[in-house]
Amino acid sequence: MAKVCKFGGTSMADGNVIKNVKNIIDADSQRKFIVVSAPGKRYSGDVKVTDLLLKCHSEVMCGGNVKAVFAAVRARFVSLVRELNIVFDINSVLDETEALIESERSEDFTASRGEYLSARIMSAVLGASFIDAKDVIFFDENGALDGEKSYKAVADALKDCNRAVFPGFYGRGVDGRVKTFSRGGSDISGAIVARAVNASLYENWTDVSGFLACDPRIVDSPKRIKTISYKELRELSYMGANVLHADSIFPVRSANIPIQIKNTFRPEDEGTSILPISRYKPGGSVVTGVAGKKNFSIIFIEKSLMNSEIGFMGKVLDVVASAGVSVEHVPSGIDTMSLVVESEGLCGDKLNKLIDGIKSAVNPDTVRVIEDIALIATVGHGMSSSVGTSARLFCAIAAADINVKVIDQGSSEINIIVGVDNQSYEKCIRAIYKEFFG
Ligand code: ADP
Ligand code: ASP
Ligand code: MG
Repeated sequence: MAKVCKFGGTSMADGNVIKNVKNIIDADSQRKFIVVSAPGKRYSGDVKVTDLLLKCHSEVMCGGNVKAVFAAVRARFVSLVRELNIVFDINSVLDETEALIESERSEDFTASRGEYLSARIMSAVLGASFIDAKDVIFFDENGALDGEKSYKAVADALKDCNRAVFPGFYGRGVDGRVKTFSRGGSDISGAIVARAVNASLYENWTDVSGFLACDPRIVDSPKRIKTISYKELRELSYMGANVLHADSIFPVRSANIPIQIKNTFRPEDEGTSILPISRYKPGGSVVTGVAGKKNFSIIFIEKSLMNSEIGFMGKVLDVVASAGVSVEHVPSGIDTMSLVVESEGLCGDKLNKLIDGIKSAVNPDTVRVIEDIALIATVGHGMSSSVGTSARLFCAIAAADINVKVIDQGSSEINIIVGVDNQSYEKCIRAIYKEFFG
């Protein structure tokens, strides 16, 4: 039986932490397949290697001084190798990388080099094979993961391998070039390797002792979640609990492979088990966790007798789809509907075009835009079977003197989402946390 271990950015941040990582891997002979991120922040205010690389790409594109920006990346990796005291010709690998960044002129390629370099170093530290994700993880023509092809290629590459290291975050697009997942995507790479080898466990090593009931940057020492279902995890991570990428569950879900979140800095802590189904029992905690994100816009549309106009919503959604805008929620009433959209997706003249499109498609009485909205999701399997959960939620928000701008209860009934002003975001999370976790 093999375990797949993914080590995140802070676990790869400097030589001393990487020595801890080696000890963790060596402590369990089942920890055979390792996926690593690019080095993250060493201290608050530090810059992640991926962000430095993205800056290098901007310099390439504007004909700026790539060498100067790449010098910061170089310094990170050179000191890593020095601290680790390994025999590894990092300068030649960095020279080659810098030249490729200039010649490829590809944002994805450049962003992926942090993981590439991390994995090369980690394979030297462990004396394990290095497997380039570009040769085994594939995207399809829509830019989505080609799961079947990737699982087979990873399994083939590992056939005669006892220990191997993969760079996370990227694979190969249909054009043969490097393509990355969205930010935080090394978690998905770990899940792909876990599925390919039918791992007994996917261990995700990070810098917190598990999935917490809310963001530890908002509430001091929130309660740890002992077990959470794939569904709850997806709802919470999609809504901003970025400890694990929201798409990580897809590769492991159909193979029922559990995920364990662990802390590299406190390996003895139990962490959180992410399981295929909920372990909720009546009397247990009704809410599993709270998460949220800022900066949404609500496009509010009103028209008398909207309810009797067949196809009204469809026409509005067609306009939104043709504008290439992704909608998060569509709360509606008898004569009203709202589109909740990430504000970033409405930049430039997109918002005005969208409003004009809606006006000419459905001739509404009113179209209004409410900006600077934060969405907060309260998630738990226990919510569907417990009377009074929403009353408790809304009383807690009202008692904190916060005005709710929009409400959406997911049809899965494990999720209630509220929209509040950006400025009330942290206060609202604290109020909900206090109500359900005391
Ligand atoms: P890694 O680099 O290991 O992938 P991330 O930075 O992606 O780590 O994720 C871990 C971070 O997620 C934590 O340091 C914490 O600040 C943040 N975080 C946000 N919400 C939560 C939550 N509900 N539980 C735990 N951590 C959270
Ligand atoms: N290094 C990438 C990022 O910063 C991917 C990852 O860490 O998972 O987003
Ligand atoms: Mg992460």
